[in-house]
Amino acid sequence: MGHAAFEQGQGGQGFDFSGGFGGGGLDDIFEMMFGGGFGGGFGGRQRRPRGPERGADLSYELEIEFIDAVFGKEVELDLPRTETCETCGGSGAEPGTNPMTCPQCKGTGQVQYAQNTPFGRMMTSRVCDKCHGTGSYVEHPCRECHGQGTVRRTCRVKVKVPGGVSDGTRLRLSGEGEGGLRGGPPGDLFVYTRVRPHREFVRDGLNLIREETISFPQAALGGDMKVKTLDGKNVTLTIPEGTQSGTMLRIRGHGVPRLGSTQRGDLLIRVIVETPKRLTAKQRELFVALAETMGDNVNTESKGILGKIFGKN
Ligand SMILES: [Zn+2]
Ligand SMILES: [Zn+2]
Repeated sequence: MGHAAFEQGQGGQGFDFSGGFGGGGLDDIFEMMFGGGFGGGFGGRQRRPRGPERGADLSYELEIEFIDAVFGKEVELDLPRTETCETCGGSGAEPGTNPMTCPQCKGTGQVQYAQNTPFGRMMTSRVCDKCHGTGSYVEHPCRECHGQGTVRRTCRVKVKVPGGVSDGTRLRLSGEGEGGLRGGPPGDLFVYTRVRPHREFVRDGLNLIREETISFPQAALGGDMKVKTLDGKNVTLTIPEGTQSGTMLRIRGHGVPRLGSTQRGDLLIRVIVETPKRLTAKQRELFVALAETMGDNVNTESKGILGKIFGKN
């Protein structure tokens, strides 16, 4: 399935990573199904357990800068979610009181009733409307949550985005989803990273790619030059003699870190050989002499107006 799981023990946050390019496929579909509410609602309310219920999972799309995706960043998000009410501890009953067994259904959550049909009297059951099938009834509802046991609020959640995430990486923050019901544990929060593009760098797996312009003599003769890495450091790039325009040159270890590892990809420099647009008289003379040695037929005088103005300085 191409699914890599990775747990990070710090601060109780467990991450698992999946996907990368093209999303997580089946996983996503399941998450969409279960993210929305009560387990898809099979069988409706009648089969809902009366005991503690785990809170729903939440998903959040987090847009981050290219450089933060590569090196990691701690971000805080404002997440609207349902939490267990602190006042009543999720019971829905005013502090000092307790939920009681529903007097109408005697705690079963179902009410039996008889129905007259052409075939005789039949016993049918329906969900108890006093307790909504939970079997317990709150006589004095909590003032904070109005008996719901949960409250809706916007929470600030810290997310440690590890270096090396890509567009569509899924981070799992266990216990940061919706609060559980009737004392159940909270669900998980799934953060999907959306990475903004960079003006100079693009990414290819663990490698970073950028373009660098070199001069015609540099390409022909070779030489060292300084290039900037993504984190702004200057590193030396050695241009070999006879480099063609479009050649990829590799600087090892200045790419993207592999998730959960210290291993890093490479920085690839695509060199573009620039043809000089303006030549001084001296440079023109040298180019003409060079062309002669190579047997090339060239213009010995500048033909353009700009060439005439700038050519003789
Ligand atoms: Zn409450
Ligand atoms: Zn009831």
